[in-house]
Amino acid sequence: MRKSILYDASKCTACRACQVACKQWNQLPAEKTSFQGTYENPPQFSSTTWTKIAFREHAEAESDRVKWLFSKQGCMHCTDAACIKVCPASAIQRNEFGAVVVDQDKCIGCNYCVANCTYNVVGFDQEANVAKKCTFCYDRISAGLQPACVTTCPTGALSYGDRSEMIALANKRLRHLQDNGNPNANIYGLEELDGLGVLYVLEEEPEKYGLLENPKVSTRANIWNVIFKPVRAIVVLAMFFALWINKGESKKQDEDRIAT
Ligand code: SF4
Ligand code: SF4
Ligand code: SF4
Repeated sequence: MRKSILYDASKCTACRACQVACKQWNQLPAEKTSFQGTYENPPQFSSTTWTKIAFREHAEAESDRVKWLFSKQGCMHCTDAACIKVCPASAIQRNEFGAVVVDQDKCIGCNYCVANCTYNVVGFDQEANVAKKCTFCYDRISAGLQPACVTTCPTGALSYGDRSEMIALANKRLRHLQDNGNPNANIYGLEELDGLGVLYVLEEEPEKYGLLENPKVSTRANIWNVIFKPVRAIVVLAMFFALWINKGESKKQDEDRIAT
C-alpha cells in the first residue's frame, strides 16, 4: 500500500518544528550558517539537513503588500525517480511503502544521485562516503508510527497515510480554499514525475513556492539508465577492482618508503 505525506501550505506557519524533529529523530547535527538575507535556513540540503522550510516573498499585484509563501521541501519520493535510475550499485530502491530509500551499505559514494536528483535534495556525507536523504522515517512507519516531521507539526499542516486517503484529504481542502477566496489554489504532486510521495496543497502556483512547474528526469539520467543498467554489475565490479588495485599500490609504495 503506497503511503504519502500531505503538506498543506495554507496551514503552515513556518515554525520549522518539522525541520528540528527530522534532525532530532535521525540524530542529525545542526549546521553553522550565516545570515543570507532570507528567513530560509540552512540555505541548502546536505547529509545532515533532509528537510527544510523554503521561504519566498511575493509582491501582490492588487496591493503594495508582500505575501510570504512557505513550503516544506525534501525528497519527494518520486515515482519516476532519477536517483534510482542512475545509481550504478542499485543502492537506491523503492520500499514496500512506495518510499525511495538509500541503502548505506550498498552505496559506493559515486555521487550520481546527488548530481541527478530532479529536486536537488540529496546530501553527501564526505566522511562516510555515502549519499544521505529523507528516509520517509522507515524505522517509524514500519512500526506503525507516523514520520517524525508529521507527528511534530503543531498546526496540522502535515498528514500521513494511504495515498488514496491523502489525495481525498487534499481535494477536500482544495475545494474549501477555492470556495474561500483562493482561486489559484492547486494540488502539486498528483501528476508530477508520475506521482510524488509527498503531496502539496498550495494557495498559489507551484513556482511561486520554488517548486518545479514541470519536473522531468534529465535526458542524461535516462540515457545512463538505458545504456548502463544491463551492465551495471560489471561497472560496479570494475569500480571495486580499480579501488582495490589502487589500495594495493598505495600499500606497496608505503612499504618501499619505510624500507628505504
Ligand atoms: S526527489 Fe530526488 S532523491 Fe527523492 S526520489 Fe526524487 S530523484 Fe530521488
Ligand atoms: S519523513 Fe522522516 S526523514 Fe523524511 S523529512 Fe520527515 S522526519 Fe525527516
Ligand atoms: S511543523 Fe508544521 S507549521 Fe511548522 S514549519 Fe513544519 S509544516 Fe509548517
